[in-house]
Parts: sequence; C-alpha cells; structure tokens
Amino acid sequence: MAPWPYQSCPHSDCGRMIRDLLAEMVPNSDQAMPEFQALIRQTPGGAVTCPYCQGAVEYDSDGQSLIVSSRAPLRCSRIKMELRASDYGSQKNPPDLSMTPEQWVAEEKLMSGALHGYVYVEDRTP
Ligand SMILES: [Zn+2]
Repeated sequence: MAPWPYQSCPHSDCGRMIRDLLAEMVPNSDQAMPEFQALIRQTPGGAVTCPYCQGAVEYDSDGQSLIVSSRAPLRCSRIKMELRASDYGSQKNPPDLSMTPEQWVAEEKLMSGALHGYVYVEDRTP
C-alpha cells in the first residue's frame, strides 16, 4: 500500500532520490486522515515530508509525479521508526540491536543520508 515513488525530491535544494516516502511510518492516528488517504492513493490532497530535506511533497494530478506542496506535511513517528529499525536489526545475522532509523533506511530502503536531523511527530511542540 505504501507509495514507492522512485523519483527525486522536487525541492530544488534537495533533489535526492526518494525510493520510499515512508508513509507507513506516519502515526496510526494520522493514517485515518483524508490527507493520508490521498497520499497513498497517489492523488493530490495530502503531503508528507521528504525523508531527506523534510520539505512537503505531494502527488500531482497525474498520479505519478511528486511536486512541492504548500500543505503542512504528515510526519513520521519516532516510536514506529525505532521499532521498525530494531526489528530489522534483530533479524540480521548476527543481530544488530543498536540499529537506528538512519541506518535502517540506508540499508533496507537504500536511502543513505535520509532522516538525519529528522523532526519526528513526537519532537514537535503541540
Ligand atoms: Zn527533499
């Protein structure tokens, strides 16, 4: 269900290859929102952060291209991301129990350099 865009970030100061928008890492409560539904259907109406520059991106009406969005983007959950990273690490041989989200996206998602300095949902002041 997660969009796999395989295209470069539309923000001109970034331009890095987004292989996975990590939409499944948005908090479950946010996944009920229409913005999230638009995103996974690859239609305009919902933005998510670029995993590298954290700029807001959304799908264009062609259902393919990512464009710069003026919406407030959905953000990933630190708790979900850390769980996913430690799951991945624990299945390695030998297990790597100190795997961080940054290492996980670099290894499994092939997005080296993503999530550095990422502001997770939990980091934002309400
Ligand atoms: Zn970017």
